[in-house]
Amino acid sequence: MGEEKKKTAKEIIETYDGPPLRIMEVCGTHTHENFRLGIRKLLPEQVELISGPGCPVCVTPVGFIDEAVYLALERGVTICTFGDLIRVPGTEMSLAGARAKGAKIHIVYSPADAEKYAVEHPEEQVVFLSVGFETTTPAGCLSVKQAKKDGIQNYSLLVANKTMPGAYAALKGSADVFLYPGHVNAITGTELCESLVQEGVSGVVAGFTAKELLTALAVSLVKYQEGKPFFVNCYPRVVTREGSREAQALVAELMESCDSEWRGLGVIPDSGLQLKEEWQDYDARKKYQMPKIEGKPNPACRCGDVLQGKCKPSDCKVFAKGCTPQHPIGACMVSNEGACSAFYMYGI
Ligand code: SF4
Repeated sequence: MGEEKKKTAKEIIETYDGPPLRIMEVCGTHTHENFRLGIRKLLPEQVELISGPGCPVCVTPVGFIDEAVYLALERGVTICTFGDLIRVPGTEMSLAGARAKGAKIHIVYSPADAEKYAVEHPEEQVVFLSVGFETTTPAGCLSVKQAKKDGIQNYSLLVANKTMPGAYAALKGSADVFLYPGHVNAITGTELCESLVQEGVSGVVAGFTAKELLTALAVSLVKYQEGKPFFVNCYPRVVTREGSREAQALVAELMESCDSEWRGLGVIPDSGLQLKEEWQDYDARKKYQMPKIEGKPNPACRCGDVLQGKCKPSDCKVFAKGCTPQHPIGACMVSNEGACSAFYMYGI
């Protein structure tokens, strides 16, 4: 008798006949890749992929855009930012709108570029919009250390960096399995995800290639049928248990935990980062005595529900009608990692 042939990850997914489950793509890149690679089409009806809060631009609240617009228009600073933040609507206008009114908005590809711009333009006050999760925070910190080393005083950060543990706590119960973002876990390690198993939270760390995503989904389906909470690192070529100690130490040197507002999730305690007291010369809010600015999101936009997996982008009344990538109403339609833009690009 020959040995029974083992199923491939793709076959496990296609032939799954277990109980219904909802898998949350915490990371927006996973949402886009599952669409782009055709993986969604392989899933049986009872397996639902829902979007999560892991797109840095999408979770950045309206008030942050308003703060950047204030600095650009009222305080005359040069805003350095990644390109996709420019088109995110603020309460009154986006940064693109501010630029049309004469604000200086400069697109950069890294905080190091922004710091270099500040060195080369000593006559300008330069603020880098520091958003994102554990993956991007270290680069912002490095740019501040470089600014100190260069002895420049015209560079600072407007910080809205976030950390994932608070989001996982806030999202508990919203999905049966979390597809954890591999690049975040590369920095943080896996201890937190492992410990969440004790609280009944299941998840797998996923990479970004077709093979890695198929493996992570197949493992999720197999483990889910065992009927108890689980954690599996399906991205071991990059993610280790301890993560990047260097990156963790760098962030701990410059930043400290604070409460942070997430679009749609509200203020989550200890889910954000701010520069420590000794680095406050590089904190744009302190440097420019930022007034309290409360953003007001467009009431038609359901980004908040999309980011919590409570609805699909296509459930939003203005999806693909009033809201398109060319004319976005909410951040989830702007960003390359946004769920609404993924549904628009691949889902229609
Ligand atoms: S389709 Fe547009 S308005 Fe609706 S939730 Fe998405 S980004 Fe917001």
